[in-house]
Amino acid sequence: MSFSEFDLIEKYSLPLTGGQPGAFDLKDDAALITSQEGFIVTTDMLIEGVHFLSDANPSLIAKKALRANLSDLAAMGSKPVAYTLAVAIPKKHMKDESWIKAFSDSLAEENASFGVYTLGGDTTSTDGLLTISITAFGVPVNGHILKRSEAYVGDSIFVSGSIGDAFLGLQNMNGSIDVSDNDRKFIESRYWMPTPRTELGQELAAFATSAIDISDGLLAEMNHVCKASSVGAVIQYHALPLSSSAKNILKKYPGLYKAFFSAGDDFELLFTVKAEDVSRCAELSQAYNIQLTKIGEVNSGVDLIVYDDDTRQVEFGEMGYDHFK
Ligand SMILES: [Mg+2]
Repeated sequence: MSFSEFDLIEKYSLPLTGGQPGAFDLKDDAALITSQEGFIVTTDMLIEGVHFLSDANPSLIAKKALRANLSDLAAMGSKPVAYTLAVAIPKKHMKDESWIKAFSDSLAEENASFGVYTLGGDTTSTDGLLTISITAFGVPVNGHILKRSEAYVGDSIFVSGSIGDAFLGLQNMNGSIDVSDNDRKFIESRYWMPTPRTELGQELAAFATSAIDISDGLLAEMNHVCKASSVGAVIQYHALPLSSSAKNILKKYPGLYKAFFSAGDDFELLFTVKAEDVSRCAELSQAYNIQLTKIGEVNSGVDLIVYDDDTRQVEFGEMGYDHFK
């Protein structure tokens, strides 16, 4: 390493604490955070080659790593507060400061945008792959916590934002599709900079029956909700909300639509609400300028079924990305 660990902490990590007293200026062995209502805690790890392409832009990697964690906190209906960060950095990135500077500057921007700070963490250099693990802490809002296990028969199933953009972004980076410059910019930013639905999640905590964020694919996530809540569900095949870029791209590659159901990385919220609360979704959609779309309903069955129309079932082999395969 051509700069010391001390330099790294003083110059790059310390500013990320935002001077919060519980970080103890990163001079102690651990940090302190307090909350009357307890903490919602989540950990998400990103590994080069698995979650992002090798030699990806450090500024984008930092954003994606933090946002994936903030999305988990949003899915629990909590307000994000702080996080710890553990990074194993390949030695090639430690030869000069440019990689670490870009990574840290990007986190500083994210901290300001999302109102969070760094509590501390650990950095090591490695001969192996770049690995980033963030543990994020959020507080429940008004004592409500959104879980996967409380979807009820008759609930409507909603998703926020648009589905499939991150998948298209990845397809484009892999060279599998050819798209216009405008569409490329949009889908790549959706892949690298998903929008954690932080405010929406906190609002939903007041009335949604269940919620989950879509990191591994819509069907996989809905399946988790069905299993946890011991219910079935029907999703309408043509109901997915699409961005205008996705619509443009599907005109050229219509066959890609089906993959939107199992593609990951959108980090939108998938949630269920009681019939009498459906109108509250329209109000929230207006208030926060976020598209909220009903895509199906919870039923008393045991399966998750996707219907093309009222009678024709769409078959899916694999329901999402399984990290253990
Ligand atoms: Mg999640």
